[in-house]
Parts: sequence; C-alpha cells; structure tokens
Amino acid sequence: MVRLTFYGAVNEIGGNKILLEDKDTKIFLDFGKGFSRRAKFFEEYINPRASNGIEDFLTMGLLPDIEGLYRDDLMKIAEREIVEPKIDAVLLTHAHSDHADYISFLNEKIPIYMGETCHLILQAIADRSNRHIEREVLSYIERPHSKKAEPVKRKINEFRTGKKFNIGSVEVEPIHVDHSVPGAYGFIIYTSEGPITYTGDIRLHGSRPDMTMDFVERVKNEKAVGLIIEGTRIADEWKEESEELVFTESRNIVSATNRLILADFNFKDVDRLRTFLKVGKENNRKLVVKLSDAYFLKYLSRDPKLNIPNFDNEDIIIYIPKKGSGLYQDSDYGKKDKEFLNGLNAWNAKEIIKNESKVLCAMGFYSFNALIDMKPEPGAIYIHSASEPYTEEQEISQERVNAWMDYFGINKYQCHCSGHARSKDLFQIVQEINPRKLYPIHTTNPEMYSKIFKNVVDLTEGKTYSSM
Ligand SMILES: [Zn+2]
Ligand SMILES: [Zn+2]
Repeated sequence: MVRLTFYGAVNEIGGNKILLEDKDTKIFLDFGKGFSRRAKFFEEYINPRASNGIEDFLTMGLLPDIEGLYRDDLMKIAEREIVEPKIDAVLLTHAHSDHADYISFLNEKIPIYMGETCHLILQAIADRSNRHIEREVLSYIERPHSKKAEPVKRKINEFRTGKKFNIGSVEVEPIHVDHSVPGAYGFIIYTSEGPITYTGDIRLHGSRPDMTMDFVERVKNEKAVGLIIEGTRIADEWKEESEELVFTESRNIVSATNRLILADFNFKDVDRLRTFLKVGKENNRKLVVKLSDAYFLKYLSRDPKLNIPNFDNEDIIIYIPKKGSGLYQDSDYGKKDKEFLNGLNAWNAKEIIKNESKVLCAMGFYSFNALIDMKPEPGAIYIHSASEPYTEEQEISQERVNAWMDYFGINKYQCHCSGHARSKDLFQIVQEINPRKLYPIHTTNPEMYSKIFKNVVDLTEGKTYSSM
C-alpha cells in the first residue's frame, strides 16, 4: 500500500517534507526549512540551540519526531535513542532553503538525489557562508566540535532530466521545470498503485516555460494517481509579468541616468542575474558583485548551459567591503575570500562612486553601509528586483530601506517577476495533468484549488493518506 505523509508545507509556504512509502521503500520529497513556523517561536536573539543537539528542533516542531532519520551526534546530545536510518533516500527538487536546508540534520547514510546545477549552487552556498547547524546540507562537522574534526560528507547522487532511476521498489523520473533558481525539477514516482507526481516550485511566465511544459506533457501521459502541487500565489490577482518586462523596465531606468545604480535581487535567480548583466552591457556598465556572490559566479560559470561569466570576467567588478582595520589590509579578509580580491577588478566603495556611471551595483539593503563610504549626491537609483514584503518583519525592513532612500535622496523603483506560477497557470497545469487526487502544498490558500478541481485532499500535517 502507498502512503503519503506531509510533515511541512501544509497551509504554509515552504518547509516541504513529504514522506512517500511504498512496500518497504521510504522516500522523502524535499527536506526544507519552514521559515514561518520557525519565526513563530524564534527571532534574532532567540534561536534553537545547537548546544542541545536536535532537541530544540524536535520539541518545537521545526523537525518531525521520526525514528531512524537524524544524525547520531545530534541525537546523542539530545539523549535520544540512536537507531539505524530507516529512510532510503531524499529527492531534492531545487536549492532553495525552504526545500533543502533541513537536510542538514539527516543521517549521512541517507543518500540525497539532486540535479547537477542544484549541486553546484549548494556548493557555492556552503563555500560562501560560515557553517551553521541549519546549513550543513552537503557535509557536516560532528558535534560537539573538536579541533581536528573533518567534515562528514553526505552521499549525493546527481540526476538528469528524463533519466529514470530506482530507489527500492519504486522508479523515479526527474523532469526539469522553470523556477527562480536553475536546476529545479519535478518528479514522477512510479509506485505499486500508479504514478505519483510532485511539481516542486514552478512557473509558466518565466524565461523557460517550455521546461515546465515538458514536465506537464510528460505527466499528462502517465495518468497520475496523485499530484502534489505548489500553490504559493493561487490567491493573488493576475498581473502581467515576465523576465523580458523586468529587462525593458530596468533598461529604461538605467539608460536615463549616469548616476549610481543599485540593483537588489537574489543572486541565485540566474535569470535575473543575466537580465542585469545584459542591462549593464547595453549601457556600458560593468556589474559590481558582492564578495559573497563572487562564489556563485565561480561555481555557476562551470555549467555551460547557464552562460554565466566567472568572477574574473571583464564585465564583473568585485566590491571590497570595509572590514577589520577599515584600511582594506590583506589581513582583514578570510583565506577563502582572497582569491577574489587580488585581481584588478576588485574595487572599494570610493573607487565605485568615482566611476558611478560605469557600473551597475548588484547590492541590496544588507550592503547599504557602503553608501556611507560612497556618499552619493542625491539622485542615485535603487531598483528593488525581488518580491514585495509580505511578512511583518519584511515590512519593518522595508521601512528601513525607505529611510536610507530618503536620507541619501535615492530614487526607488520596483521591477520583478516571481518564481511562482500565477493562479490561471496553476489551474491550466491541473486541468492538463488531471490527476485522480490533488494534494495542495506550499500555499496558505489550498482551498482555492477546489474551485476548479473536485478531488482536492484537505491536508492535515502529520496525517497519513493511503487510498490513492
Ligand atoms: Zn519553495
Ligand atoms: Zn523555490
């Protein structure tokens, strides 16, 4: 008998952790961090304690309390019983935190399956940031930390679109989809009761709708018994949006000025990165990237399909932040950062403002300290190219952004295209796939699917669904 249990993403956006069981095979579809449930109890100065192993995460419901799933070291600190892993694999759809980050807690004997590009992105993320208990996806250091400890690597298996593989008694087919990060996939899982299919995060209005349609077409032919589908924006009003529109709007803003320009976007969104590279190029402006984002260029430029320049490319400038002594001394920067700082294309804030008409800075709110060093004259430009705030905390940050804009007399613009499908597109996907049952996740409005489809399962977190 096939069983599905949803341990996250039920009435919330993200935190996907779906257990699929068929005979003796147990697979998790994604194992992400649930931001909203974490924020319910924790904030900046109160966090789950790493010193308590896995206990804080289990007790507060940030992780499901299931046997045979987690790292021995974390279970031991929590004084929990250690048992052999009982899960055969995790299938990861894409590299976003709300799908990937809580793999950090899993036992290293559980293999993780992901796309090649997804693997590159996770490598860049691991390299650019400090190790943290909630961010040890590819490898971890056993706790309590000892000086000589080497990282324990997880078993990573890369897959390709359309190439099937087996896990226990089931067969899995990954198929590429379009989302705001490259290397995103949906899955068809051929179970003993028929194909169950999972979209991950998808859209039809991005740069590659053909990829999402490849998924839809493939699934359509398989007569799915179950469709697990995201619904992030299902209750939002329809609006005209596309990456092309982001490009033309940004180009019009940039071409009308020779002043300083800041573009605030998520660097993992490679479509957006390409858009701003193109806007820069057409206006004879080089793209200034943050030191931490240079890691993404280093890894993503290895994937020829992505067509991303490396950090030493002539169109790229790396921004050197003020650290340590404040004098830009060699000793102020970490060993790993130095490879990016030795080239002629590494500039500090003063060099950037001196050449303001020749650069487009990929710098957002968290780099606003640079404005103090730049002291731009009024009339500079800030292009916010990410989703508008939707939580209370984001609203507060937004007010701070606006205060900086007012203080320095900077003009603000909004240009964005979302990573998630609009309701009309989601409805089209459901109608085309026409599954026997629909499991709505990654949305706070799952009931909206009932408007167009009769067999929508009203999900409860932690409950097991068995009649496919
Ligand atoms: Zn997501
Ligand atoms: Zn995502």
